[in-house]
Order: sequence, then C-alpha cells, then structure tokens
Amino acid sequence: MGFAKYFEKDLLALNKLMSSDSDRFIKEKLNNQLICLEFDDQYHSSYEAKCCLELLISIIARLYPRISFKCDLIGAEKTITKLSKYAKKINKEIDIENDKTPSIILSTCKKPKQLKGEIRFYLGSDNWTALFSTTRPQSFAFSKNPFGASIAACIAASNLFRSVFEKELKFTIDDNVRFSILDQYYGANFNIKTENLDLDEFDLVGIGAIGSATVWALSKLKGLKGRINLIDHEKLDKSNLQRYILFNETDENKWKVDVAKKHLNDNKFKPVSYKKKWANYIGEDYKGSCTSKMVLVAVDSKEERINIQSSLPQKIINAYTDDSRVGISRHLNFIEDSCLACIYIPTKEEKGDLTLMVESLNLKGQENFLYKYLQPSNKIDHEFIDKYSEKNDLEKNSLKEYIGKNLTDFYSEVICGYKVLELKDSKLVEKVDVPLSFQSALAGILLAAELVIEKSEFSRKQNFDVTQWQILAKINKENPGNFNYIKNLSKNCICGDSDYQDVYKKKWNI
Ligand SMILES: [Zn+2]
Repeated sequence: MGFAKYFEKDLLALNKLMSSDSDRFIKEKLNNQLICLEFDDQYHSSYEAKCCLELLISIIARLYPRISFKCDLIGAEKTITKLSKYAKKINKEIDIENDKTPSIILSTCKKPKQLKGEIRFYLGSDNWTALFSTTRPQSFAFSKNPFGASIAACIAASNLFRSVFEKELKFTIDDNVRFSILDQYYGANFNIKTENLDLDEFDLVGIGAIGSATVWALSKLKGLKGRINLIDHEKLDKSNLQRYILFNETDENKWKVDVAKKHLNDNKFKPVSYKKKWANYIGEDYKGSCTSKMVLVAVDSKEERINIQSSLPQKIINAYTDDSRVGISRHLNFIEDSCLACIYIPTKEEKGDLTLMVESLNLKGQENFLYKYLQPSNKIDHEFIDKYSEKNDLEKNSLKEYIGKNLTDFYSEVICGYKVLELKDSKLVEKVDVPLSFQSALAGILLAAELVIEKSEFSRKQNFDVTQWQILAKINKENPGNFNYIKNLSKNCICGDSDYQDVYKKKWNI
C-alpha cells in the first residue's frame, strides 16, 4: 500500500478528529480512494494554476496512498511524469495509477470532458480570490499572485477530506465558494499587487507546520526585496513531514531553517537562518534588546508567544491552528491594540504545564517524581522508563532509546509525536492535537498574505484583531469569522503595565 512512511502521524490526526481508534478502518477507507488530479493547458499558461496544482499535490500526497493524473492535451505525458516525480518526493511509497477509474477528481480544468457518474471538485482563482465549486468548472487568472490559488487548494483538500469521511465526521461540503483573503470577506473583490514588493526586514519565528507554509507562499512571490530572518532551533524529523508542505522526504534530518533558506534565495530578497530559539536569537544577536519591526509568529506554544510579545517588537502577526480551527491574530500597536499576550496569557483556571504533563503521561500522583525530571540536569533514566511503562502498560524496551534525553523531549516525541501510535495506546491519542496538512498550510499561507497586505498598506473596510476559520465547516458569511479581543482583559497582561508601555514608546518613538 502507498502510505507515507510518516503515515502514523496522519493516523494520529485522524484518530483525534474522529474519536476512533480503529487504524485499520481509516487505512482501508483511504486506500479505497483513488484521487485524480486533473489539469489542462492553464498549468503552463497561468502561474496561478501551476501554484494551485503543486500545492494540491503536496497536500494530497502526504495523506492519500493512491493518486492519478489526468490531462487530455497532446504531449501531456512529460508534465505527468514531472508531477509524479514531485509526488514521489513527498511520499516515496505513493501509488500512481493513471489507468484506473478514480473515485474523485480534483479538476483545475476550464472545460473538462466529463463522463457520466464522475465526481469532480473544481478549482480556480483570480488574484486574491479562491474559487471552488462542486458543480461548475472554474478558471485561473493570469497574475503572479499565488494566494487565491493556494487557498483554493486548501479549500479543495478540506472538501475532499470531508467527502471521504462524510459519514464519520458528519460535516457537509461546500457548493460554490468565491472568497477573497485580501478583505477576508465572502465574495469580496479587491486587488493589490504582489509582485516586486519590498518587505523590508522581518522575522519568521518557527519553521514548523505553519512557518514552512509561510515560506512556501513567500517563495512563490516574484521579485521580492528585503530580508527575512528565519528562526528555528530544530532539524526536520520524519514525523514532521505529515504536514510540513515545504519539505519532502530528502529533507529529513536537515536544519529546518536551512531548507527554508534554500527555497527563498532570490537575488534581492535575503534569507538569513538562525538555528536557535527566540530567546537566544534576541539575546545573542541583539544583546537582549529586540529591534524587530515585524515578527511573524508561527510557533506552537503559548509560552513562546508570550516571550516574543514580552521582547516588544514593533508589530506582530500570529498564526495558529487548534482543534479544527485556523486563525490569524494581528498585533500592530502594543499601546492601543490587544497584544499577543492578551490572547495567550493563562487564566487562573488553566492547568499548569506539570499538571498537563502528569495527565498526558498517565502519571497521576507522581507529580514530585515527574518534577525532578523537569530540571534540565536530570535526564530520563531506567527508573523513569520503568515507572512510565508500568503505569501505561507498555513494553519498556521500546522506550529505552529515550534514556539520557530531557523529559521535555521525551514528552514531545512520545506524546506529541508519532511514537504513541507505535506504542498502540489509544487512550493517549485523544489528548494529542495534530493538525491536518491543509489546516497548517492554510494558516501559513494566510500569515504570508497578512504580511503582504500589511506592507502594501491596504486598508480593509474594517480591521479586526482575529480572523478565524473553521476548516471543516462550510465557508459562508460567518466562516471565517472576524472578531476583536478586549485589551488587557486578564488585568495582568504586560500591555497594561506602564513599564512595558514606556519601553515600547521609547523604542518605537511613539
Ligand atoms: Zn496584552
């Protein structure tokens, strides 16, 4: 079967979503699908169509084990071979079955030849506007703007997923979508250019599931000028591939920032990589005082987000995924707007790290024992492995590889990584939040789009702190939703602190 070598991570995401622990059922369901990607001459004539199809392959090949390509043009074999190679780079195991009848066709064709009984989802785009339909063919405009096209790919991937798991998820699919991410309104029709932009200098923190999609989107913009500081302290792990759309199997064990840098090398746009965490980045390179005018936040922890806000960059745009949501929050003025910490500062009711860890590791009553291992000098040892495997009824030999590692690494690999499925403990699976690839892709692309919009000084009809998508629900006037946060709601946020305000004002001449 053509499942990706990192498929365990896909299963983790699916199990979480469906509260089902039947791996075999999910695998069978996916293996019964043959997903066909259909294209026409727009692939060669429209940059938007090319971006759309490429992203679609990158998303689909990470989850589905069988795909096919269809194109009625004479001489299409060459392009099909090229696209097949691309899919194989993402998932070496994938089966490409061009001669079989597909179960569903994702069509980027203007006028597809349709046979009776075929199920098609149609994709298209017009600059910033994503087009999707289950009933009518769509087309692509001829701009160099990748945004509408890539959002259309995410919307189509979500609809495909919803249609495959229609019974289990009880969600409905979209009929016709025309959505501009420029104004974040359903049916809006504005335009600003995306070519030859000067993005000045900015930081992208986190080249993970979201950040890698941001880099992908930026790499598709033509003639960029400026400098991007890429900040991430990790190498690419096999399990990351499930949703990191920029990366393929040959990138395993490479530094994430290095791969990202390679994709962004353009003569007037300078990518600079930093293999470190945010705190070390501002500490070592800026001597503790952050001078970043614009920070794109694509990290996955609240603490890291609060750290970034506390260092007082001038402007922050943040992207997130949680449960079935994708969101963007904008923090462009620390004095007047709600800050990033306003959203992420823990309320009293929220559980601390240790409590969460105790629960996830199923080590209730062992708080003191666990606390000992939270000290950086105390590494995982035999005593820990014995206790953990006994409490969770696991084979301890399978955990020996973690001896000598930090508890936080153990926690993130065993609980948040794919290891838990190898260990076959479905109780733990329910506690893990693993986004689907189109969900992270959407978040990252929206983050890049927000930067472009901010730099273009485009003024929206109304400005909101947060735009949030329900990724598995129909797109309509309420989805995505826009809303504002009340500044300093928690009463103890740093943006309500006069010392922080003074530093910010002085630093940014306000
Ligand atoms: Zn605040």
